[in-house]
Amino acid sequence: MTTGEVMVSARGVGVRIGAATLLSDVDIDVAAGEWLTIIGPNGAGKSTLLRVLAGLLPATGEVRIGGSPVTALRRRERARQIALVAQDPVVPPGMSVFDYAMLGRTPYIPPLAAESAADLAAVRDVLARLDLTGLTDRELSTLSGGERQRVFLARALAQGARLLLLDEPTSALDIGHQQDVLELVDELRATGPADDPLTVVATMHDLSVAGEYADRILLLAGGRRVALGAPAEVLTEDLLATHYRARVRVVDGDHGPLVVPVRRTPRNRGAAG
Ligand code: ADP
Ligand code: MG
Repeated sequence: MTTGEVMVSARGVGVRIGAATLLSDVDIDVAAGEWLTIIGPNGAGKSTLLRVLAGLLPATGEVRIGGSPVTALRRRERARQIALVAQDPVVPPGMSVFDYAMLGRTPYIPPLAAESAADLAAVRDVLARLDLTGLTDRELSTLSGGERQRVFLARALAQGARLLLLDEPTSALDIGHQQDVLELVDELRATGPADDPLTVVATMHDLSVAGEYADRILLLAGGRRVALGAPAEVLTEDLLATHYRARVRVVDGDHGPLVVPVRRTPRNRGAAG
């Protein structure tokens, strides 16, 4: 699925805010068409790294997107190339689902012009694919958390960018909608916008799901890259115990490792027999 072209390259990326070091010396390359999932405990720097890759947060080191330094891309050009779904996007008050998804088309609509028939069709298509057609006129604030999360994704997909950055895109979704969304993203990865492969960088807390969809997994801890590789190389009982302080069992699934949390104290501790 990848073409060999490097879509994202980060070299020695660091972020410091005041006395706090959020990221240090992070190197990654993501091939065009690849799906990289970033995992790591709370506060590891996952959201920070996505914001740096999106060009929204200044960092030391260098980030290149499609060969150009992300900081050199003008706003409109950046929005055509990179779509970010933040962990907790700000919702403009009173906005409908349709109008919010249409914001994704902003980089294609000339200043002061109205959206074109192609823009309307792109938004309708994406809303239908995310099971949102019945909700198009609803105000965003009246939706459930999971419905809203699908609308955030709709806006990003309507953007038609070649790089999709997703910060915990399925945290509010039931398992059915979670699979719908991830399968849709995976499908789009093959076809992509304008037949370019779509590159996906996502953060995720569910480690089994992370392993099912990602080509490679990056494990961050304390702002540093502590592991990067195929799911089976990163989702190991040792690495997860060390960096999450979690007791897990890793078992073989159909497409790779599945991570099952197990109680730290045996249930029968102290029981007779
Ligand atoms: P993650 O997404 O992996 O949970 P984040 O990237 O959101 O982590 O944050 C990484 C760390 O940086 C956290 O410890 C967070 O509290 C800290 N942090 C985030 N923003 C700031 C800030 N503006 N000033 C200081 N520390 C911050
Ligand atoms: Mg986060």
